[in-house]
Amino acid sequence: MVLNDASQQALLKTCTKDSFYINILRNQVHGLCQNILGDQIWILWQKEIEVIADFVYFFLTTVRGSQTLGEEYVCTIQVDATKRKIPSKLQRLLQVLLHCTSPYCIEKLLQHFEHNTLQLEGLASSHKIKLVVLFRFLFKIIPVFHHAHLILFYIQGVYVNLSKRIAGVKHIIIRPRDDTEHDAGTFRWLAILGGTQIFCKLISLILEARKEMLNKTETELSIVDSSAVEATETNKCMLCLDVVRDITTTVCGHMFCWKCLIDWCSVKSECPACREICPPSRVVRLHHYYPT
Ligand SMILES: [Zn+2]
Ligand SMILES: [Zn+2]
Repeated sequence: MVLNDASQQALLKTCTKDSFYINILRNQVHGLCQNILGDQIWILWQKEIEVIADFVYFFLTTVRGSQTLGEEYVCTIQVDATKRKIPSKLQRLLQVLLHCTSPYCIEKLLQHFEHNTLQLEGLASSHKIKLVVLFRFLFKIIPVFHHAHLILFYIQGVYVNLSKRIAGVKHIIIRPRDDTEHDAGTFRWLAILGGTQIFCKLISLILEARKEMLNKTETELSIVDSSAVEATETNKCMLCLDVVRDITTTVCGHMFCWKCLIDWCSVKSECPACREICPPSRVVRLHHYYPT
């Protein structure tokens, strides 16, 4: 039997199936951590818990040399650039580490730079604003960058994500080829539509950054950076115990961070402070309101 490159469709199916199982694992790990650590610590460590759950999934499959559940479902296996050998353990580990940890590390690094810039004493206010807006622009551009790589995948096939491209890991299909899977026309259209979408998104992000650079004051920028402001009784989120970010209220009027409250309400539809019934659809994000 001749082994062929996995088609774009097969690779997308693999990713969808893996995401499905990763979500199940994430939910189970979230439930476990919430029970063991309590609500407040669980809220604080949610991102780290998800990174660990993703890493565990790929460590037990890819790094140990087995197929992932998605690969097993679509009948694909990973090969190195020569397409004759299974990728080395180092290649597999590099791919998994990049895939699971790089978005988290980049986000933390940008947040760190943003916080340090706001704390710098010798820097002029106008320069601080420019730098902070630049870091936030870079943060917002990460999904656009991933989208651009997806378009490259629609055109070229082969590498479904950037971590596989960097580690040089390809996929071949280990079942007879299904010709209906090679509909290049559809992917060409998807690439054109995606390209247009990226272009519009980039223009809107640039305009937004320019507007922020011209209109925002240092105080308005600092108030969004929780670590640059001292937490007091009036501006503290009861869930993460830090300065409230993206202020959001429940129907009963209690204030929390947007992310803290949405995460909480998607598990328990009640106000964390007074237990009033509050489904996620009824929470309200407050714009242009800065507690003192
Ligand atoms: Zn919070
Ligand atoms: Zn309440």
